[in-house]
Amino acid sequence: MVKDIPALYGSLVFNDKIMRNKLPKDMYKALRKTIQNGTHLELDVANSVAVAMKEWAVENGATHYTHWFQPMTGFTAEKHDSFISPTENGEVIMDFSGKELVKGEPDASSFPSGGLRATFEARGYTAWDPTSPAFIKDRTLYIPTAFCSYSGEALDKKTPLLRSMEVLSKEATKMLHLLGREDVTSVNTTVGPEQEYFLVDKELYKQRRDLIFTGRTLLGAPAPKGQEMEDHYFGALKPRVSEYMHELDEELWKLGIPAKTKHNEVAPAQHELAPVFDTANVAVDHNQLTMELMKKIADKHGLVCLLHEKPFEGINGSGKHNNWSLITNNGDNLLNPGKTPAENIQFLVFLMAVIKAVDDYADLMRISVAGAGNDHRLGGNEAPPAIVSIFLGDELTAILQSIEDDSYFGKQESTLMDIGALVLPHFTKDTTDRNRTSPFAFTGNKFEFRMLGSAASVSNPNIVLNTAVAEALSQFYEELKVADPTQMEHAVHEMIKRAIRKHKKVIFNGNGYTDAWVAEAKRRGLFNLPSTPEALHEFISDKNVDLFTRHHIFTKGEIFSRYEILLENYAKTLLIEAKTLGEMLTKDLLPSISAYACTVASEAASKQAFLPTISTESEKRLVLGLSGAYESLTKGAADLNALVSDIEASMCEDNMQEIANKCLKELLPLMESLRETASNAEARVPDDYLPYPTYDQLLFSV
Ligand code: ADP
Ligand code: MG
Repeated sequence: MVKDIPALYGSLVFNDKIMRNKLPKDMYKALRKTIQNGTHLELDVANSVAVAMKEWAVENGATHYTHWFQPMTGFTAEKHDSFISPTENGEVIMDFSGKELVKGEPDASSFPSGGLRATFEARGYTAWDPTSPAFIKDRTLYIPTAFCSYSGEALDKKTPLLRSMEVLSKEATKMLHLLGREDVTSVNTTVGPEQEYFLVDKELYKQRRDLIFTGRTLLGAPAPKGQEMEDHYFGALKPRVSEYMHELDEELWKLGIPAKTKHNEVAPAQHELAPVFDTANVAVDHNQLTMELMKKIADKHGLVCLLHEKPFEGINGSGKHNNWSLITNNGDNLLNPGKTPAENIQFLVFLMAVIKAVDDYADLMRISVAGAGNDHRLGGNEAPPAIVSIFLGDELTAILQSIEDDSYFGKQESTLMDIGALVLPHFTKDTTDRNRTSPFAFTGNKFEFRMLGSAASVSNPNIVLNTAVAEALSQFYEELKVADPTQMEHAVHEMIKRAIRKHKKVIFNGNGYTDAWVAEAKRRGLFNLPSTPEALHEFISDKNVDLFTRHHIFTKGEIFSRYEILLENYAKTLLIEAKTLGEMLTKDLLPSISAYACTVASEAASKQAFLPTISTESEKRLVLGLSGAYESLTKGAADLNALVSDIEASMCEDNMQEIANKCLKELLPLMESLRETASNAEARVPDDYLPYPTYDQLLFSV
């Protein structure tokens, strides 16, 4: 059956068209005004929207509604209420009021608050975000909301993002007015997140405690084949994977999520999905939904979708590329260089603002992607290093260079691509090649931030980016506002000259994966924060607290609470991993080693009894080796348990940095050394002695 995709697209979304049809004209107008200009929403408008929403939701099979929010757990949260309202004659009607739409009061005491909300003050509020459309999922109307405490502190990832988008809009608009763009009234942040993931067979998954409890393998001998043949990237999709992707696309389309690109990734069993970009807030919500649906639909296909940043050792982990730009209310992309970027003052100002922002707040950029899972990627030979630098490409670098030393930047001729066969089309070549190793790369008309881990919300990086760029623009504004308006071009050049001198240290067009770059970055004085505890330590520095508080993105209390939550999350993640590893060793691997050693020994004994002259030296060596591994793993598991108990006993609210450091410096190395011993032993034990599937099976069975 051929499906009508345009009709399917957004069929479960309370979108603009439905609002226009269902709402009285004046109410619709008032709502549009709120959505576009962020003006306050009156109760009569809310009531009218609530009625229309309920009507539409019920028509489409919904019985419940939920305020959907993004607490600091990293996941989304929802509590469902039905629309039913009993009447006097014992019947029910389906009811939904403006009050219920705009505000919810979930009990907040069980969400992480980092000490912000004392437990006796359990009240939390959810507030409707009209800029992200409501939708239906599982017969429930989902209303995207922000989540805050009784006293108004943000307890979620949406509130600060919305704050940062507003600040950036304000600063960018101010700058554009100064540059003569009086037509612009607001500027939006656009985001397109490319999402990587792994698919493994569900039956195999269920046999591994590590995947179930931690999302990654904690031990495992590498398969004989990994990604070295480079045959998986963009390879033909296997039928089972293809079926999965089709269903995923359709379900996403129904929710108005513009899933666009899908392909196999570098590692075996690894794939990617990218949507068409949207405003940051909607893109963040959509990415959360995408991750949720990826898992849910995988289950229907007998698969499990792994979103962990490093599910398997020895092959690539999964990231998320955050494509980011700025768009005016008239639809101009402010990072579009145009045909002659050297003469495009507006572009140069915004480009320079991003460079300055990333240089001034490189530590915050790194912190915004910090987490136990992502630590396994950053700095490995697959993801950008933990050092934040910018790739600009040759042309833009040369333009900035020419501004810096007052030289003339000649017009670039576009060259025609010649592939050497007449039948092939000729097209113009991009002025710069791509760079795949930079953490923050200019890619034509947007920046691509590539340090994000696959599992995390894309909110944090965009909060940081928006705020830092807003700060840079506001500093530029202060410099430019005193300039003679007729000499603005000159003033901008002079300002960029000063800025590029100061910030060019963050620009690096070379290969970011080499040791030479690490050394060079150190010479340049760039931050290198390889682990989450080290990175988070910088979160609360005066410079960073000052940035966030000045722009009203976070209060000092909100920053410290987030700092604590993130550290605690890191420590707890490692503790769960350590406990899981302990269990796998004790309950899975050690009995297998022992059983196999016994089999080898008894078979050797019976061989020798049968034929006393036969040599059993190999069996003896094998049994000896296995027994050695058995002994050292038994001891290691005991040490691990002791260390876990020790850390857990000393953990309290006030020493999270210390606890996280201890997890990093003591727990992680112990786990890694146990993993090595375990993997060596595992490689000597036949598969049918192991109670869990090996890497070979996990990576090549779908
Ligand atoms: P790549 O070669 O890196 O895959 P694409 O052009 O396919 O590049 O874009 C990748 C992502 O960037 C997509 O999600 C796309 O929608 C997004 N994107 C494109 N333009 C913008 C923009 N102006 N702002 C934000 N994201 C964008
Ligand atoms: Mg990309």
